[in-house]
Amino acid sequence: MSLCRICNASVREFFDFGHHPLSAAFVEPGDSGEEFRFRLAIGICEECTMVQLLEDIPEGRQFHGGYPYHSSNSTVMRAHFEETARGFLAKELTGPDAFMVEIGSNDGVTLRTVGEAGVRNLAFEPSGAGGGRVHRAFFDGASAREVRESEGPAGVVYAANTICDVRDIGQVFEGADVLLAPDGVLVFEDPYFGEIIDRRSFDQIYDEHLFFFTAHSVHAMAARFGFQLVDVERLPVHGGQIRYTLARAGRRTPTADVAGLLAEERGRGLTDSRTLDAFAESVRGIRQDLLALLAKLTEQGHSIVGYGATAKSSTVTNYCGIGPELVPFVCDTTPSKHGKLTPGAHIPVRPPRAFSEPYPDFALLFAWNHAEEIMAKEQEFRAAGGKWILYVPDVHIV
Ligand SMILES: [Zn+2]
Repeated sequence: MSLCRICNASVREFFDFGHHPLSAAFVEPGDSGEEFRFRLAIGICEECTMVQLLEDIPEGRQFHGGYPYHSSNSTVMRAHFEETARGFLAKELTGPDAFMVEIGSNDGVTLRTVGEAGVRNLAFEPSGAGGGRVHRAFFDGASAREVRESEGPAGVVYAANTICDVRDIGQVFEGADVLLAPDGVLVFEDPYFGEIIDRRSFDQIYDEHLFFFTAHSVHAMAARFGFQLVDVERLPVHGGQIRYTLARAGRRTPTADVAGLLAEERGRGLTDSRTLDAFAESVRGIRQDLLALLAKLTEQGHSIVGYGATAKSSTVTNYCGIGPELVPFVCDTTPSKHGKLTPGAHIPVRPPRAFSEPYPDFALLFAWNHAEEIMAKEQEFRAAGGKWILYVPDVHIV
């Protein structure tokens, strides 16, 4: 039995994807060594309702020496982070000596925008990546104390796509408590479990995402660490996220949106076993449908290419059992992946130009969270008669 990483109560499993490789462990062709695998399974805490992976990746097995790094290759994401920064500048960083901290750096777009407005800022990033001013450490009580002593209190501690990956979230709260000004806020945005249920986007579940937040679980977690959930905001990026704003307990009045989302989650039974069982059933259905479609198209002689060797694609290919016999290669913009094989499924990764040489009949869109942007960019593929295969919320061709 697994114990909750937040409150130590027991976690009830509701889906087991089987044994998976690490989603970033691309393989050199010809490397016959056995890949490290772990059981990718998800459950819910019976006490605080936190949805979480059941197994930890052992120390030293993780690939990155820092927080997950998300490139802002996408113009949509760049615009999103610039707008985020402008929001903080307008609402939170209005004092004469404002200071903002980001956990992880995400390309540095947010802090760069804050800096251009003349506001002091700093990223906590052990790998040193980011571009702006970086404190080379994980964000915890000790590192926050160091920065507090030299820089003074922060108005905002912000993290995007990062907190859901941090095993010891208590350390984040301790750091926030040390570093934040009395009225300061801890703000983080991560995939919303409600969207994962709605979109059946089971591929959001992979090794790097330990937690899948809801307003309920964040509300309970905040209270546990002396904070309070004071605002929630839905974000359209990455397949549906929520931005949670937390302040020290009693310092701010929660917005109506907090009560609204809590009520909505209760009303729809978001974390009821009925909902979770239905999700599990539909994921099994997607696997069946996707395999059947790929097999049929292959049999009919159609060419199929994967689009985006994303971390999410590792869950899809390994859970469904999709290898090079169904998807001969996958195109990706990341140069370090070119010439390698995807983790577990061993599908060769090729540069983007391979996509049009010649265009395939069908493209399996693993990077569906950027669907609009990608489809706009790949209009020639459509013009050449190509079609997209999507698998959330169900298997369909567009
Ligand atoms: Zn719990």
